[in-house]
Amino acid sequence: MADLTRLSSWLRCPACGRDLEPVDRLVLGCAEGHRHDVNKRGYVSLLGAGSKHFGDSADMLDARDAVLESGAYSPIADAVAAAEALPAGARVLDAGAGTGHYLRAVLATAPEVTGLAMDLSPAAVTRAVRSSPSIDGLVADTWRPLPLRSQSVDAVLDVFAPRNLSEFHRVLRPGGVLTVVVPRADHLASLRESGAMLDIPADKADDVIAAAKALYAPLTREHVRFVLALDDALRLALAGMGPSARHADAAPATTDETTVSVDVLTFTAR
Ligand SMILES: [Zn+2]
Repeated sequence: MADLTRLSSWLRCPACGRDLEPVDRLVLGCAEGHRHDVNKRGYVSLLGAGSKHFGDSADMLDARDAVLESGAYSPIADAVAAAEALPAGARVLDAGAGTGHYLRAVLATAPEVTGLAMDLSPAAVTRAVRSSPSIDGLVADTWRPLPLRSQSVDAVLDVFAPRNLSEFHRVLRPGGVLTVVVPRADHLASLRESGAMLDIPADKADDVIAAAKALYAPLTREHVRFVLALDDALRLALAGMGPSARHADAAPATTDETTVSVDVLTFTAR
């Protein structure tokens, strides 16, 4: 059973912007009388009308889980966790949380940290909420105004996910930390050369730093790069976990290793 008081403590009404509070069993509401049902699985969906984006499918989630739970990306999770210096009791938003893998790594870095797993995919949010009693769940669209209270979180995570820098800034408390993970041009290059995955444009980190400049001061930049040995299962899972999975003609590559290469960036909200 979801803790509706804790869940609502993150949230504001997507219709009017007022704080949401529990008003009934599995119902959140605002002072204007808007009501939002909480799913019995313990998350709330506050998707705005007309959202045209689609969340990851169950197949994509399975593929992502297989990669992450194998430990293949654990150096990235370690770097994300190390980049945070959270106080006890900190509140962390993971935007595009997927199944909550990186959020769980961050929750473990300080006592009594709570997290909000936000994703477009109800299936992903369900898995994230189930995975830890410290994680609340929200189905929402990063591209739209976020149904989150202003200056209510200590940290925002954005790992391989869409970024809404102005909305992240609004929900961060002053001095709060934004962590962004973006791929480098050589990330999984051997898989992409074989046609199994879509091309990633040139290094994204500089673009993120430039876009963030008005609202955030850069704190740290770490290049995480390592060679990953591939077996058939991991090859298929890597090809199936990202946006390329939507292209049904993606064939698994035959290369037996690939390079993981990402930038882990942290910023503080000005
Ligand atoms: Zn309202």
